[in-house]
Amino acid sequence: MLNLYNTLSRKIEKFAPLNPPKVGMYSCGPTVYDYTHIGHLRTYVGNDILRRILEANKYEVKHVMNITDVGHLVSDEDSGEDKMEKGAREFGRTVWEVAKFFEDYFWKSVDTVNIERPSIVAKATDHIAEQIKLIHKLEKNGFIYQTDQAVYFDISKFPNYTELSGQKLQEKQVGVRVDVVVDKQKKNPYDFALWFFTVGHFKDHSMRWPSPWGEGFPGWHIECSAMSMEYLDDCLDIHTGGIDHIPVHHTNEIAQSEAATGKQFVRFWVHFEFLLVDGEKMSKSKKNFYKIDEIEQKGFDPLALRYLFLTAHYRDKLNFTWKSLEAAQNALDNLREIIRDLPSSVIASPEGAWQSYYQKFMDALNYDLNMPQALAVMWDMVRSECPTSAKAKSILEMDKILGLKLDEYLGKSIEVPKNVMELVEKREQARKAGNFKESDQLRHRIKKLGYEIEDTSAGPRIISKL
Ligand code: AMP
Ligand code: ZN
Repeated sequence: MLNLYNTLSRKIEKFAPLNPPKVGMYSCGPTVYDYTHIGHLRTYVGNDILRRILEANKYEVKHVMNITDVGHLVSDEDSGEDKMEKGAREFGRTVWEVAKFFEDYFWKSVDTVNIERPSIVAKATDHIAEQIKLIHKLEKNGFIYQTDQAVYFDISKFPNYTELSGQKLQEKQVGVRVDVVVDKQKKNPYDFALWFFTVGHFKDHSMRWPSPWGEGFPGWHIECSAMSMEYLDDCLDIHTGGIDHIPVHHTNEIAQSEAATGKQFVRFWVHFEFLLVDGEKMSKSKKNFYKIDEIEQKGFDPLALRYLFLTAHYRDKLNFTWKSLEAAQNALDNLREIIRDLPSSVIASPEGAWQSYYQKFMDALNYDLNMPQALAVMWDMVRSECPTSAKAKSILEMDKILGLKLDEYLGKSIEVPKNVMELVEKREQARKAGNFKESDQLRHRIKKLGYEIEDTSAGPRIISKL
């Protein structure tokens, strides 16, 4: 039985979908105006683990994700220019070219860390009609008003506006900066835009569509409500995103969706904590980010990054350092080396031998996705006295969730060339004789040939870096 922390109730709750075994899950996707960085990837690996756990619990998951290619302004609170226009200016391309380039880069990054692609990917610019339809519904229900610059959602008409964040509106208003309130005709600074008109500072906006209220483009929040309800239901089982989305984006999604349908919008809100660098959020705007290419250029396997993400709970911050990535790479290399000695085809797995570990592994994950604990169980199993075929079966089952592609290593013991074996032998003799200088030199020669030595109590272990 899966238990999940629900941001809405601030409690860990038993998960049950509305129409079992089906689960409708929506995840906020990237704004494609700049490179995907490894901070984003932490959130999307989190989504991936959640989806895989749901599937391991025999749910049929329909996973929908959006691509934001219009309407996300520099401030989440609807001020500044559209991020897409900013990207176009910075990279000297049209907004459409920028969107295509960075969406491709996003998928490439996501694939390298073995994230399963969503069942449905929905681009905001492909769903303008759906967004207009939803605004229209809100108009009929009396939740919108219009200024010279935009069509707004009137939050005073929606009493539970801050339920998700738990913030008092009063507290929010204290924090309002003058430059955030750019439209003087807005009734309340926290009313949010559903549709921007191509006037004033948006008069040259290149993405524009006709609408019943005037030519313009949709706001960022309305796209997620419109597309999630289009492909899933009026009520979603799960909605995910990074924690930055709680106070504004998801708060606004709830208000406009529930105002339109009169029903609860989302039953379980799942939010992922940030990846930090030097104690600060890794972000495009701070330019303190690393891309997956940089990870690979430094000689790391992208799956070592995935392994690193698995070592922290999704609701805890994780500070990225090259040292921590190195440790993750070593752990992954060690795991791969160990499983090379296991049988590759697991035809008849001995009943019971692996199942208690698998049960503990699932128990950890089923209690609010405790990935670090699940990893520890996996290591206990690998080091246990279980028969090798039971270990192999276990690895295959656990890796359906961990997603480390361990099947590629199972039973693939490496043929170490004779010359390398001779050097290993020589080094072992030098080491035993206390001749550490020579032993180090030999280690260096072995490394140049593409192999590393790890000294274990059972003797030297040879790790291939080829
Ligand atoms: P964006 O493209 O900025 O809309 O971000 C896409 C997703 O990545 C959102 O769910 C963000 O919350 C998430 N995200 C952005 N930066 C980070 C970070 N440093 N760590 C974890 N998730 C992040
Ligand atoms: Zn969203």
